[in-house]
Amino acid sequence: MNRCEVLRVEEVTAGYDNTAALERVSFSVFGGEQVAVVGPNGAGKSTLFKVIAGLLPLRVGRVRVMGCDPHREPVEISYVTQQGEVDFSFPVTAADVVMMGRIGRMGWLRWPSRQDREVVRRALAQVGIQDLADRQIGELSGGQQQRVFIARALAQEAEILLMDEPFAGVDATSEQAILDLLERFKEGGITILLSTHDLNLAADRFDRVLLLNREVIAYGPPQEVFCPDVLHRAYGGQLAVWEHERGLVMLGDGHCSMGEEVAR
Ligand code: ADP
Repeated sequence: MNRCEVLRVEEVTAGYDNTAALERVSFSVFGGEQVAVVGPNGAGKSTLFKVIAGLLPLRVGRVRVMGCDPHREPVEISYVTQQGEVDFSFPVTAADVVMMGRIGRMGWLRWPSRQDREVVRRALAQVGIQDLADRQIGELSGGQQQRVFIARALAQEAEILLMDEPFAGVDATSEQAILDLLERFKEGGITILLSTHDLNLAADRFDRVLLLNREVIAYGPPQEVFCPDVLHRAYGGQLAVWEHERGLVMLGDGHCSMGEEVAR
């Protein structure tokens, strides 16, 4: 991991109409770090990603991506939205969708070059769906579609990747493919912010955890963030947490940090 700061969010307040979905949110991320963004439904995780990607205006505060303001200039960031936010009825193939990731690098009215096609081919292979390149996006399973969108993000060759609940509704094969990719991103030094409801995954696989509930409840290594007091502040009655000699036991949303045996 390089210790250069690549993302800085400072005192950000943002939201929709009259409501603030995020309030005074501040944190920063170093290059190559993998950060899990967790918190209850409606905590502002998707809103945070939209703000970082420059898609939702700030009311207060500032965001810097490698020193640049995403609300004013293009930044080296790619954003994989939640599955439900994409309209799959348009008639394009998986390879076309991945090629869309190259547009920022192609310039105005240019045709894809041989290099663009090679990047697309490699991106599809990296997520393990090269055989589906010519299939219509709407014909693919939820997990395969999610991998297409991750491939598009890879084709963009951005330094920072935002993934909003990439595991929601995907099959086991796609889940494993995404987990394998996270390992490769780590080796490649790509910075990841990934939102998830799976607290075990956040604890096991990520360098730091951002626990959000409109404001930052905690930010740090998993062992600091996942303690009963802090979790209670974020989840309230939705999650029962207690300490056990072998670790924390968390019940409430189907996840238990110590496995079925303890949950029963
Ligand atoms: P999370 O991703 O943690 O579930 P969101 O960022 O989606 O949370 O939502 C944060 C808050 O903003 C919620 O109260 C939600 O209802 C509200 N919200 C999200 N998107 C919109 C929108 N497009 N218009 C109005 N309110 C929204």
